[in-house]
This record gives sequence, C-alpha cells and structure tokens, in this order.
Amino acid sequence: MVDEERLQLELTPRERTMLEMLREELGLDSEEEAMRLILRQAFQRLTVTCPTCGHNARVTDEDVAHCASCLSILRLSEGLWMVARKDKP
Ligand SMILES: [Zn+2]
Repeated sequence: MVDEERLQLELTPRERTMLEMLREELGLDSEEEAMRLILRQAFQRLTVTCPTCGHNARVTDEDVAHCASCLSILRLSEGLWMVARKDKP
C-alpha cells in the first residue's frame, strides 16, 4: 500500500470552471479524476519509456529524449523511439 500525499489546491473561479468543463468533456465523475487524467497526459507528453532500461526518458526536443537512468539518447524515427546513442558513464 502506497501512502498518497494530500495536495491541496486553491483554484480561482475561472480555473474551477475550466476543470468542471474538462471533467464533463472527459466524461468523468469527479474533478479529482479529471485532474489526475490531465496530469498523466501532460506527463506522457514530457516523457517516453526508455527502450533500454524502461525508465522515463525526458523529451528534450520534438524528436529527442534523454534517459537520465542509463544515459541513452533516444530519437524518434518513424513514430518509434529508438536508441540513437548510449553515453559511457
Ligand atoms: Zn534508459
């Protein structure tokens, strides 16, 4: 069982409206679920799964990502992330 950290957010009325609209759009029951989904989607845009080690590699350019775990440099080629180079530690 993982302890979940409680995060309290103060939303402005405008942000509240935005979240409510997104919740409806996503067809979710709670705004909390909507927040989690949006967070996951944003994270997925920022990272890719490293094919070498399975850790999250950070996307640093449109078609380049760096894995801080195994130091691979990944390149997007025809829709697939391939290892372009592996730096020696
Ligand atoms: Zn890696």
